[in-house]
Amino acid sequence: MPRGAQRPTLTVLSGPSGVGKSTVVRELRKKHAELWVSVSATTRFPRPGEVEGVHYHFVSEQRFDELIASGGLLEWAEFTGHRYGTPREPVLERLAAGIPVLLEIELHGARQVRAAMSEAQLVFLAPPSWDELVRRLTGRGTEPQEVVDRRLATAREEMAAESEFDVVLINTSVQEVVARLLALMAIST
Ligand code: 5GP
Repeated sequence: MPRGAQRPTLTVLSGPSGVGKSTVVRELRKKHAELWVSVSATTRFPRPGEVEGVHYHFVSEQRFDELIASGGLLEWAEFTGHRYGTPREPVLERLAAGIPVLLEIELHGARQVRAAMSEAQLVFLAPPSWDELVRRLTGRGTEPQEVVDRRLATAREEMAAESEFDVVLINTSVQEVVARLLALMAIST
């Protein structure tokens, strides 16, 4: 397809915590350099193996306040006590250059992107079943019940939003989800 024949795609991948969004994004990044994955700013601390500027921009509460005040974020939300947001400029630059952009964000952020950019396609990654999601979220069972309950309540709210999305992909196989996403972004495999 000739360059410019199709509008550059902005795709938002969302879905409940624990469904496997980051595994899908890791696979996409590994194999498809022609796709650009936005690097979010967050106030949470890095986990082992996470690299500044690759997985996140790890910023202070004050810096996050500044980003909001200056309009530097396309969207932002609070999730489990920390703030996460998509830096606006890098996304707009890539889209202007015709590069497909992927955002991996939670529900409230996805709604803000929909409101700000009507051309965005919103993809919901769903678990094979509710029981499977509960299994993934309760994990090793070493956490306080209160923490687990809060996580499940959030997941229930997130699952209820499925119908707001343009496309629903069920995460039965990472490779299949990756292939479907590439097709949605008009990237050949
Ligand atoms: P984690 O702390 O596990 O990396 O991410 C927690 C949640 O925050 C995930 O659901 C992830 O999709 C979401 N998230 C990551 N970056 C952003 C962002 O820039 N904006 C929003 N709204 N959510 C984000």
